[in-house]
Amino acid sequence: MFFLSHRGSADRSRQVLRLSVACAVMCLLPLAQASTAKDDDSAAAPHHAPSAAAARRAAADKVAAEFADKADAVKTISAATAAAAAADLGNPVPRAKARDPMDIIRERLATRLGAASVRAPSDHAEVKVVSKEPGAAREPAAPKATSTRLAALAPGLSDGVLGGGHASALNARSAVAVRPVGGAHWSYEGDTGPAAWAQLQPEYSACGSGLRQSPIDIRDGIKVELDAVQFDYRPSGFRVIDNGHTVQVNVAAGNTIEITGKRYELVQFHFHRPSEERIDGKPFDMVVHLVHKSVDGRQAVVAVLLDRGSAQPVVQAVWNNLPLEKGDEVAAKSPLDLNALLPTDRRYYTYMGSLSEPPCSEGVLWMVMKTPVQVSPEQIGIFSRLYPMNARPIQSVSGRLIKESN
Ligand SMILES: [Zn+2]
Repeated sequence: MFFLSHRGSADRSRQVLRLSVACAVMCLLPLAQASTAKDDDSAAAPHHAPSAAAARRAAADKVAAEFADKADAVKTISAATAAAAAADLGNPVPRAKARDPMDIIRERLATRLGAASVRAPSDHAEVKVVSKEPGAAREPAAPKATSTRLAALAPGLSDGVLGGGHASALNARSAVAVRPVGGAHWSYEGDTGPAAWAQLQPEYSACGSGLRQSPIDIRDGIKVELDAVQFDYRPSGFRVIDNGHTVQVNVAAGNTIEITGKRYELVQFHFHRPSEERIDGKPFDMVVHLVHKSVDGRQAVVAVLLDRGSAQPVVQAVWNNLPLEKGDEVAAKSPLDLNALLPTDRRYYTYMGSLSEPPCSEGVLWMVMKTPVQVSPEQIGIFSRLYPMNARPIQSVSGRLIKESN
């Protein structure tokens, strides 16, 4: 995607990282084996003489010291590599979000050992190794490798789409999916609810101080002849995940929109209940947010309001593939045609806003379809069993311009 023009330097960065990870794996495996051997030995012979025990302790201390040295070295190399990659792409280095190199090592080890699923103990990132399922929706090979590496090198680059409920389809496009869960735990109510988001961690400060936040109550828009959004959606493979904030669908590459000459690719879509946005003060039963990203990293979200009525086939296809457990991702067997989720009348409201959840990053182009699409009460009921309320409160418009199609 946005890193294609920097392929040469990205390759070099990957080589450095690969070397450092390979070194770490070679260094750490024997250490781990030595440690296991020691434990077995102790269990088999608990009555060793004190001098032998002292010698073992000294050996263990030495191993621990070497381990720490090597881990530090890997950490330094990896941090430098991530910084170089981020700088190369013209992005600020996400210092607080730089990935723990130990997570990368764990991930590589898990891949080598053929683990089905591995979760890092860190609160800051969840590392999932997704096994390859026969018949599962396949993704193109090239983006698979590159996006995984990019996420490993500089996770903050895809900030926003990667974080929380707006988590990325970049991840869906990798056999080893890396899904930062947005750092601090956040929710829609209580101590970690919207009023507290900005205080939960420094990266979320825009949630409190931003002046171009979403959602908003859409009113007093100026009626003009807006360019039509050119939807180029086609039947695509998809994976459904309950990420703890919403039901999210990661969509295979190849679905794009074009607006005012700029092209964005669909990354994922997800649901809120009730709708986050209001029209002249009126909320809707639900809303679906289709999150797109351009090659230069700009985000555009198309919101389709959902109103109670007849059953919606795309929503049903998503519900049919709901995973049983939070955090698990289910690959659907049949493709999804998202054209069926769009209203026939494509007139819309548009304004500049933010992600409507942490980290609340701004600079997001919003297009809210004026005409709602119907979903059945049963379909709404299914979602509300999982998420009775997952909408951020309305944010101040702060003088922003809202335009709407005539
Ligand atoms: Zn959303």
